[in-house]
Amino acid sequence: MNLEIPIENFTRISSAYQTRLKNLGILTMRDLIYHFPSRYQDFSARTNIADLEVGKTACIQGEIQSVKMVRIWKRHMTIVDAIVKDGTGQVKAAWFNQPYLASTFKKGTMVCLAGKLAEKRGAKYLSNPMYEKVRDAGGGEDDYTHTGRLVPVYPETAGVTSRWLRYIIKPLLGQAAKIADPLPRTVLEAYDFMSFGEAIKQIHFPDSEEEAAMARKRFAFEELFFIQLAVLRQRMRLNRETARAIPFDEKLIKKFVQSLPFSLTDAQRKTAWQILKDMGKPHPANRLLQGDVGSGKTIVAMIAALAAAKSGGQTAVMVPTEILANQHYESFSKLLSPFGVEIGILCAKTCAASSYGKVSKKAALDLVKSGDTQILIGTNALIQKGVEFKNLNLVILDEQHRFGIDQRATLAKNRQTKKENRPVPHLLSMTATPIPRTLALTVYGDLDLSLIDQMPSGRKKIETKIILPDDRAGAYEFIRREIGSGQQAFVICPRIDPEEGQPEIKRDGILFDPKADWSGANAVKAVKEEYEKLSKEIFPELRIGMLHGKMKAAEKQEAMDKMKAGKTDILVSTSVIEVGIDIPNAAIMAIEGSHKFGLAQLHQFRGRVGRGEHQSYCLLFSDYPTRRLNAMLKFDSGFQLAEKDLEIRGPGEVFGSQQWGAPDLAMASLADVFLVEKSRAAAKGILQNDPDLSRHPQLRARITHFSARAHLE
Ligand code: ADP
Ligand code: MG
Repeated sequence: MNLEIPIENFTRISSAYQTRLKNLGILTMRDLIYHFPSRYQDFSARTNIADLEVGKTACIQGEIQSVKMVRIWKRHMTIVDAIVKDGTGQVKAAWFNQPYLASTFKKGTMVCLAGKLAEKRGAKYLSNPMYEKVRDAGGGEDDYTHTGRLVPVYPETAGVTSRWLRYIIKPLLGQAAKIADPLPRTVLEAYDFMSFGEAIKQIHFPDSEEEAAMARKRFAFEELFFIQLAVLRQRMRLNRETARAIPFDEKLIKKFVQSLPFSLTDAQRKTAWQILKDMGKPHPANRLLQGDVGSGKTIVAMIAALAAAKSGGQTAVMVPTEILANQHYESFSKLLSPFGVEIGILCAKTCAASSYGKVSKKAALDLVKSGDTQILIGTNALIQKGVEFKNLNLVILDEQHRFGIDQRATLAKNRQTKKENRPVPHLLSMTATPIPRTLALTVYGDLDLSLIDQMPSGRKKIETKIILPDDRAGAYEFIRREIGSGQQAFVICPRIDPEEGQPEIKRDGILFDPKADWSGANAVKAVKEEYEKLSKEIFPELRIGMLHGKMKAAEKQEAMDKMKAGKTDILVSTSVIEVGIDIPNAAIMAIEGSHKFGLAQLHQFRGRVGRGEHQSYCLLFSDYPTRRLNAMLKFDSGFQLAEKDLEIRGPGEVFGSQQWGAPDLAMASLADVFLVEKSRAAAKGILQNDPDLSRHPQLRARITHFSARAHLE
């Protein structure tokens, strides 16, 4: 059996089903047999019909006495009724809207039924039970598929039921069990894992919950092991690549730090030093800088970019939104121009450079190509075709968690394409999302982590309040008073559920539809309505601004500029404000429909205020208090909130696997630190003796397959 054959080659699967399977991410035979159940239903115990109890789930076996089908035209419904008898009594079974069952069952058919006994107007019946003909099952315990055993329940999608998956997968397992174990024997023996042949049977059709758990553990290990093997090998390769070392110029850095209007926190100094040290080596640095919202990551990035520029190399700073690109362009220009550094910005609609002001896209590209632009800031326009650097030496990815897998993969590829043997640029990623160590180890391999674990001094705690409908008028009065004393406010419009038919993307476990969030018609409508309401009814005397994705780039910039300059009192916005925006005079963050947002996002919103000297406030408008909103009252730090989030939603939801491109089982296993460490040790052991995996062709094939789908950067 070849696991790489595409499902198109299965004649048992109709093309309609093939499409549905593809929606589940199942493309090959391997994907299909690695599509594991999420749980099992225990129908292993058989009950006598006479012992059935109303409201209880049970499994019976007996002979069909009679079958009839009733159509209820008015309700467009069919009911198939069957009377089943065993040695102790008889019972009725009823299936709704499955008319074909009338011809499946005949008088005299032996069946096994599993389901709940219901009672309606005195009549007792098994309601929509799972069924199986005993002839099909063959009679032996092992031969049951849908009843009479631990029955697998699969993660389903529209049109692919567990019953169908059981029907397709079960016959494949005998063959599958015979293929060579994907794990090396040494590894299997060292950790005493179940063999592949046994595990593939036990995970789909287990003999007991214990066997299922052992099989699951083995596959979790297997998936983690291959991820580790892939990332570690990638890392070893990267270490062999050459990068242009950026010498540590202490005088320059000191001068820059002294030029700042504030003194750096110890955490900023420490992390900046770590990055500078990395970049001083002739191998590509790969560092993730983690720091809570407002902890001052931008300055650290500037230090790295300054060092690169002064050593003759270029830096690309990639950010998720155009607004953030503009903000960075301004702040980089303000602080680095005195050092004679040329800064450029390249977005879909805005192109500019320090010494030239606004320029055409072509001119901007020329400046980058000639090396005149030393630091280029932009959205993902930076990694598109046609952008060519003279000597790119450093890539900075801000708000890294906001980039999709594809964008990160493209970036990784760009870094690796060795044109004329050019050195690979150093990489600094920045994020406010706390990533647990096991995830960092797994997904990032040996990526180096730096943590800004300290806020700039003088920050005041942001007062957070839940505003229920009855408190709304009071909250408006409060906002009016604060603005009267010179502060500014943001009002965020509620997250709009994605328009129908648009795929949702899971990031940080938040269902996130970039279109609905930012430029979707609904979100824009909500902003416009809120703008009308606030400017006409609630605060007619105040200056209200508006920001949403359907505005032109220049209009967006104008809205931001006015806010920055203090010419807008209240800026009504979609959640685009969430990432990175820095307006120190804003003291109020009001979030409409706040119960609809995830904790990470709420925390990001709140981080937009509390940056100046004055007391700041976060007002969570909601119809009712929720656990998440209460957590916002209780915790200030992103790390505490992330922990709470884990507790409320669980790891699967929080670290949505789509974001990382890792298999579900591996994601779910990240909580198991020991298993992660074991898989890491095993992978290291193999690579130590066989760095190219030339003696392990099977392993090599498998990780090539894996790397092609997941991003490893
Ligand atoms: P984030 O880590 O969320 O990206 P920023 O880099 O945008 O945070 O910094 C937030 C604000 O804090 C900015 O206005 C920045 O100028 C200011 N800031 C950064 N470092 C310090 C510091 N050491 N002392 C005071 N303010 C600082
Ligand atoms: Mg930032």
